[in-house]
Amino acid sequence: MNLMDLHIHSNASDGVYSPAEILKIALDKNLKGIALTDHDTVGGFLEAQSLRVPDHFHFLSGIEFSSEFEGEEVHILGYNFNAEDSSLGELLENIQKQREVRIFSMVEMLCDLKIPISVERVMGNESTDSIGRPHVARELVRLGVVKDTQEAFDRFLKKGKPAYVKRYKISIKEAVSVIKDLGGFAVMAHPGLSSKYALDYTLRQGIDGIEVYHPKHGLRTIKKLKNLATEKKWIITGGTDYHEPGNHHGEIEIGSVSVPYENIVDAL
Ligand code: AMP
Ligand code: ZN
Ligand code: FE
Ligand code: FE
Repeated sequence: MNLMDLHIHSNASDGVYSPAEILKIALDKNLKGIALTDHDTVGGFLEAQSLRVPDHFHFLSGIEFSSEFEGEEVHILGYNFNAEDSSLGELLENIQKQREVRIFSMVEMLCDLKIPISVERVMGNESTDSIGRPHVARELVRLGVVKDTQEAFDRFLKKGKPAYVKRYKISIKEAVSVIKDLGGFAVMAHPGLSSKYALDYTLRQGIDGIEVYHPKHGLRTIKKLKNLATEKKWIITGGTDYHEPGNHHGEIEIGSVSVPYENIVDAL
């Protein structure tokens, strides 16, 4: 079957592999295609334009916008849009700047806790456009403050913990319309992780599809979402949400959660 992993993070956001490394893995695994869905950046996809991609392979433009509904995180995936658009570039640059400002606040709060962390070290070790909490978590691991990034989230970085800092998020409506205005299709990411309220709201914002397959979705969730998508005639997507080997979604390999190419071909 022609399978595509439509949810992968590169080191343009908070994944650890470069777009070239991800492409190589996807080709080795005989996938039909992939999308890099980096948080609030298309830098990885643009970088990948210079790579040699075989004709039969589909490298879709992608993004994962961090948005929210009444304080709850909601992520909107975008696919197959014009990633070179200059107004998109400006919007993303603005979001990325605000992400950087937030890192300064997080580092300050960690320093108040007597942790010898610095912005230079957090940023200096990364080649990202879109800096976030995982980068801080990795520096805390390097410093030996925590044993792994999960502990960094649990002790310091999660909502309610002492170094949690809110970040600017675009509205769900805007994320959906930005993607659609650029000719792409908008998908609600991992709906199985959302509350009923956030789900009901997001599904009414003009999305084109839902992410039915995700490592954190159980069988019952998958069945429910699949029925819903069929009823509403939404595109059914899925992917690994890959960040790094042994990441917070468990021991997942690129391509191990995927959808048939046929699911999305009409939208291309
Ligand atoms: P940020 O966009 O900076 O708020 O960081 C969000 C990213 O951090 C997510 O995409 C995940 O990669 C990671 N993350 C969020 N919550 C957790 C958690 N509780 N444990 C581990 N990683 C998390
Ligand atoms: Zn992430
Ligand atoms: Fe997400
Ligand atoms: Fe993701």
